[in-house]
Amino acid sequence: NAMLKIEQLKARVKDGPPILKGIDLEILPGEMHAVMGPNGSGKSTLSRVIAGHPDYEVTGGSVTLQTPDGSIDLLDAEPHERARAGLFLGFQYPMEVPGVSNRTFLRAAFNTIHRARGRMPLDPLEFDRILQDKLELLGISREFIQRPVNVDFSGGEKKRNEILQMALLEPRLALLDEIDSGLDVDALKAVAEGVSKLRTPDNAVVLITHYQRLLDYLTPDHVHIMSDGVFIRSGGSDLALEIEERGYDWILNSAA
Ligand code: ADP
Ligand code: MG
Ligand code: MG
Repeated sequence: NAMLKIEQLKARVKDGPPILKGIDLEILPGEMHAVMGPNGSGKSTLSRVIAGHPDYEVTGGSVTLQTPDGSIDLLDAEPHERARAGLFLGFQYPMEVPGVSNRTFLRAAFNTIHRARGRMPLDPLEFDRILQDKLELLGISREFIQRPVNVDFSGGEKKRNEILQMALLEPRLALLDEIDSGLDVDALKAVAEGVSKLRTPDNAVVLITHYQRLLDYLTPDHVHIMSDGVFIRSGGSDLALEIEERGYDWILNSAA
């Protein structure tokens, strides 16, 4: 039974030209998918439309998420309802929040989701215990959470902070948009290891990436190549290796 089912999804920037031109995708619990493609093919748009970004307008198709409480028509849900249903979007360019400590920010995010799922908010001490567990799991130092959110963080630290948020929010479906961009090899490995540790048989991950190198450390079950708003090819993890060897052009040409 699919956890996420996308059928013929079409979308554009409000009043703009079409960007997504008919995406079909089925994700089962426990799976990891990679969406690859050249710049401007619509990868980020796909993740933003699934998350309910207000700049975009859906012009066709459906997106259905399976939850323990039944299936949800995501396109009909407000962005916060999508988050409550277990959707998480990790950003390519995480926001800086000067003057707010990372711990305060993480606790607010955690309690918002916690409350939305019908649980009692945690007091700072209880939260700290959970946070400590996640820091240890991901090998992140405590110093990291005292600092203002993402301010003066390196590229790698910002991406690790996204993974820390993911660890705390325990999403059913995580969409990670270019978590590999701008990272050196060590940071890339740390981020990939974090994602691996957060996988369970009940959750699913979508890695959105331009480059194959992230997939040296994370092996997706399915790879989809996007071009001009559609998936032009889907396959196993070997498809990513083929892209690495031959670039995008051959596949674009062979699809044309
Ligand atoms: P990718 O993530 O694959 O690089 P994007 O989804 O960012 O692709 O962009 C796909 C196309 O949609 C591009 O032509 C881009 O310029 C356009 N686009 C995406 N978001 C916006 C936006 N908010 N405003 C205007 N154009 C946009
Ligand atoms: Mg881009
Ligand atoms: Mg993008």
